[in-house]
Amino acid sequence: MNSGMNANHWDAIIIGGGPSGSSAAAILAEYGHRVLVLEREKFPRYHIGESLIPFTYQPLQRLGLIPKMKRSHFVKKYSVVFISRNGKASEPFYFYNRYDRDSVAQTWQVLRSEFDQLLLDNAREKGAHVIEEITVKELLREGDRVVGVRAQKKSGETIEYRAPITLDCSGKEAFTAVRNGWRTKDPYLSKVAVWTYYKGSKREPGIDEGATTVAYVPEKGWFWHIPQHDDMVSVGVVAEGKYLTRDGVRDPEQIFKREIEQNAWIKEHLSHGHSTGQYYLISEYTQHARHCGSEGLLLVGDAFAFLDPVFSSGLMLALKSGTAAGEEIHKAILARDFSPQRFTEYARYIREGIENMRKLVYAFYDPKFSFKKVIETRPEAAGEITDCLSGDVNKDYTPLWNHIRQFVSLPDDMALGGPLVGASGELAGKA
Ligand SMILES: Cc1cc2nc3c(=O)[nH]c(=O)nc-3n(C[C@H](O)[C@H](O)[C@H](O)COP(=O)(O)OP(=O)(O)OC[C@H]3O[C@@H](n4cnc5c(N)ncnc54)[C@H](O)[C@@H]3O)c2cc1C
Repeated sequence: MNSGMNANHWDAIIIGGGPSGSSAAAILAEYGHRVLVLEREKFPRYHIGESLIPFTYQPLQRLGLIPKMKRSHFVKKYSVVFISRNGKASEPFYFYNRYDRDSVAQTWQVLRSEFDQLLLDNAREKGAHVIEEITVKELLREGDRVVGVRAQKKSGETIEYRAPITLDCSGKEAFTAVRNGWRTKDPYLSKVAVWTYYKGSKREPGIDEGATTVAYVPEKGWFWHIPQHDDMVSVGVVAEGKYLTRDGVRDPEQIFKREIEQNAWIKEHLSHGHSTGQYYLISEYTQHARHCGSEGLLLVGDAFAFLDPVFSSGLMLALKSGTAAGEEIHKAILARDFSPQRFTEYARYIREGIENMRKLVYAFYDPKFSFKKVIETRPEAAGEITDCLSGDVNKDYTPLWNHIRQFVSLPDDMALGGPLVGASGELAGKA
């Protein structure tokens, strides 16, 4: 530890300046609280996760960012298209067939370096203090209570920051869940993703230009094809590791190129452009934290839970949990009460959304599942599935799940997420 360490006192400390951290920071700063955001990287920084879904609109609106998004050069997304294994495209599903055309029904494909910068600048403009290139190394505790963090600058200098509440918004690295042994996996969703960027890939004309395309490959694997500005396309494949690495192929570029051959639509569209040459691989990223927090600590965004990316729910959940956490912590600061019980409702709300989305993700990966069959036998299911896929996740979907269970089995809710109360490990109510 550096002997020149100084102490800094804040109303709230936020670990990570990604979408969840910057949205929580913006809300708290707007209420006039003294908020410190500690971010390891120097923004703008690269990040995967580029497609928004319609119900990201509400948190963006709460953050006051809709006008900036409308003025931005981010490609407008009006629809999703599914491509069968033989390369045949479904009709585009247009969000405006169900939602207001001027708001929720149009969303965006973003470049994360730019989108995350926009969010972090918004937090700064509202008064949050952001320090970049500083890594949180440790939580400071007094008994069971988290009272701040110990962080290290690039220079090696170590600093302690103190606050009655710390928000862990560290993303899928899950700073707290890993250190507290709270991280749990979702075994059935242990997929691998391999991706790259193409310039000049073919895109459809008019409002179909910004469609997200989900194209199937064997073994319930799938490609994403996400058009971005400057003629770039984010394109990746997700499947079981043993399928993607069959015959001993392990190199991300070779994996990717082999899978292109598995779907005629992807092959044809990519043949019009060229890869930028860099290939990325990530494995087993789905995770759930056993607890949403404890006294003086709250987990937000991917640090709380991250689902398979098939339905692009990550940013919606990061912004939703970020804004919800901001509101909860504002109330806690006013009440001067950071006891874990306060976070029970936050955890219930976020877990409800995750569990609903998770059921659809499980269904998607079950070879016996077909949206068509489900809708043919229960016409109301079309609207319900659309709502859930669009991110309207805090609703009672019990009738839909009961119906889908006639075709495939769906997972029960995971009995986790509630705050940890005291050293005894007692739960403050199941989330
Ligand atoms: C393959 C793949 C595809 C995806 N596709 C989509 C998609 O199409 N649409 C979608 O909505 N989502 C998608 N996602 C998910 C999306 O990327 C995440 O849900 C989203 O980034 C979560 O935001 P966050 O703020 O919680 O975490 P992050 O965006 O990861 O931000 C966390 C921040 O914390 C910082 N940090 C971490 N540790 C520390 C530390 N110790 N000290 C200081 N700072 C720290 C990091 O530098 C980072 O900036 C995808 C994810 C994957 C893996």
